[in-house]
Amino acid sequence: MITRRKTNTVKVGNVKIGSNHPVVIQSMAKTDTKNIKATVKEINVLEKEGCELIRVAVKDMEGARAIREIKKEINIPLIADIHFNYKLAMEAIIRGADKIRVNPGNIYKKEELNKVISLSGEKKVPIRVGINSGSLPKAAGKNKELSDRMVSSLLKYLEYFEKKNFSDLIISLKASDVVSTIEAYRKVSKRCDYPLHLGVTAAGLPEDGTVKSSIGIGALLVDGLGDTIRVSLTGDSSDEIRVAKKILSSLNLRKFGPEIIACPTCGRCQVDLISIVKDLDRKLKRYTTYDIRHTKKPLIIALMGCEVNGPGEAKEADIGIAFGKDQGAIFKKGRIIKTVKAKDAINELLRLIGGWHGKA
Ligand code: SF4
Repeated sequence: MITRRKTNTVKVGNVKIGSNHPVVIQSMAKTDTKNIKATVKEINVLEKEGCELIRVAVKDMEGARAIREIKKEINIPLIADIHFNYKLAMEAIIRGADKIRVNPGNIYKKEELNKVISLSGEKKVPIRVGINSGSLPKAAGKNKELSDRMVSSLLKYLEYFEKKNFSDLIISLKASDVVSTIEAYRKVSKRCDYPLHLGVTAAGLPEDGTVKSSIGIGALLVDGLGDTIRVSLTGDSSDEIRVAKKILSSLNLRKFGPEIIACPTCGRCQVDLISIVKDLDRKLKRYTTYDIRHTKKPLIIALMGCEVNGPGEAKEADIGIAFGKDQGAIFKKGRIIKTVKAKDAINELLRLIGGWHGKA
């Protein structure tokens, strides 16, 4: 079982981040924030998928001003992502952003950063101090390991915020290199108690990004680190949410609906198990998007390619099917309860689990 690290708690809108609060899933809209209609549309799709916090890029004043209109049309807290221009951060806060993300290295003048800190404090808007490996200041120690350079750079900024009596902070240290990312978060977690936003940056196309994020974010979560996660994919933002949900549910940190376990098949399998699993996965989709935040008890369903090893190998499943040539043996907790024709097996299984969570 994973024991989560105790951190400060930071409130972003109505979502609490840190310590024993559930690890929060977030994503970033890929639209131009000025395009209010498209941004709202994307956020609403993500929200339906299970996104709990959304970040938008604020690259100009029009984008900062759009925040107020966007917020009227969405239900999840909004984070404004700011680089270089402190005035955009100020405007985003005034327009109702629930949190801002800054890379202090990109806001060069101290007096500008001071203004942002002071307004954030006044409006109780938390700040994520996000260090990216690509934008480390040159002075950050050329010969040190990347993770050490990231940590020392972040600690310097944190010290600055603390001197200004500002501690409503979430931190991140993302690199595109998975090992450096893991090392940086592990090191910084020993030096401060701020909640951690986890992610591997620029992780690439969905297949690469899924693997890198699962390893990077997953390793840290197993350590008990991490309070909110963002999976970065060069692809559909909905996939970021689906992968994030799968990472959390694989580690039993959150559960979002029934979980299918399936064997990889081998020479003993006499049915098209891949198609059968895909079919069930599709049919269960409505359970995974329905009532996402309230799903307490997951149902584990096993689909196994043969009767020889199937029920025994899938004992931990609540219910499952072990397929023979033309038939499917339906079992509960490893014990066969009935045998039906293979073609009817999925429908029978769905009938049997129909009462689960009150939706057939
Ligand atoms: Fe092979 Fe049967 Fe094991 Fe599936 S359950 S991998 S078909 S032995």
